[in-house]
Amino acid sequence: MAKHLKGATAVETHSAILDLIRSSGVVSRIELADRSGLTGASISRIVKQLLTEGLIAEVGFGDRTGGKRRTLLQLNARSRHAVGVSLDFASITYLVTDLSGEVIARLDADGIGHEPPGEVITRIAAELAGLVESAGVDRSTLMGIGMAVAGRQDSAHHVLRSNPQADDWELFDIEETLSSATDLAVVVENDSTCAAIGEFWVGRIPASADFATVYMATGFGLGLVTNGDIYRGSSSNVGEIGHMVLDVHGPPCWCGSQGCLEMLAAPARIVERALEQPGLADELGLQGEPGTIRQDAERVARAAAADHEQALPVIEESAFYLSRALVSVTNLLDLDQIILAGPGFGAAGEIYLRRIWQDLERLSFVRAVHPTKVGLSKSSDISAALGAASLVLHSRLTPHQTSSRMALAAR
Ligand SMILES: [Zn+2]
Repeated sequence: MAKHLKGATAVETHSAILDLIRSSGVVSRIELADRSGLTGASISRIVKQLLTEGLIAEVGFGDRTGGKRRTLLQLNARSRHAVGVSLDFASITYLVTDLSGEVIARLDADGIGHEPPGEVITRIAAELAGLVESAGVDRSTLMGIGMAVAGRQDSAHHVLRSNPQADDWELFDIEETLSSATDLAVVVENDSTCAAIGEFWVGRIPASADFATVYMATGFGLGLVTNGDIYRGSSSNVGEIGHMVLDVHGPPCWCGSQGCLEMLAAPARIVERALEQPGLADELGLQGEPGTIRQDAERVARAAAADHEQALPVIEESAFYLSRALVSVTNLLDLDQIILAGPGFGAAGEIYLRRIWQDLERLSFVRAVHPTKVGLSKSSDISAALGAASLVLHSRLTPHQTSSRMALAAR
């Protein structure tokens, strides 16, 4: 930290101290000075400014040191709010969070389906306004809207490209349209990156940790956080783990390759394998339609979690492929921690967790040097929306993080 702040500008130092308070939970000025390497006088000045802005609050006293009682500080959670939206074919989830990332209000609405993008955005603006009003949140405390979307991104134009299920959304400028409709700053990011930043912000992960979030919804995505910031790659399309090739002679994938993780382990494959099991579709009430993949896969996962004789091997096979993909990812990136997030892990997350943990213990190249922790997100069904809201908090309050695109979208 001290090294990090050497030569930092006032804004960078200010936001780094705010970030330290965030990740500490409750902290004193003396501890801030210790952890940051800044002088007591500098810390006092920065803390005073953060108190004036209402971003932090004094919350009582700690132990006496040298006869003086230490005042404890923490984020002033209700001073600012953010909106997170997860845009999906099956559903749209809206969250309003406070500064600490705590969810204050939630709404689950119909997905985008085949509704034209312009109409979806109009509906989103109306549903959002209703949610904010019913939650009793003062609009002036809203810092912006974060939106989590699946699909490839064109970071120069802030749009989705080549989403195989949504041609209409190609070249549609979500940020600009939604920002005009709501008069709020909007930032769009892919769902796996959102989930990663959400874990970082809400899970109080320290900025020093390098970790990845594996997101499973319709397919897979990998969000990376390194040095306390999102790693985006050259075009915001980092982490396409779904198209990591696990079997060079495997089934053809829509991306043009063969034997991709998505083809071997995603919900569509889980349903396909389940339908091959005699009687299982009837027993679990699987519909086997393209539009019911998410629900069908969840039924299989729930049965597997209850040790169902036919369903368990189906989920175990999916976990096996994902696990081997993650051994390669860990070998490539030398990660401290992997978090499993997204609706795909909702019902049978423990089965995936166990398999990945066992394989990393046994097969990871760095296992002798350090362990790679694996955990399940505590909010897997809303992690993308939560992360989208966190992205607003993160990019507005810690602007020293250079990859933030919030400034571009700010009105
Ligand atoms: Zn592929």
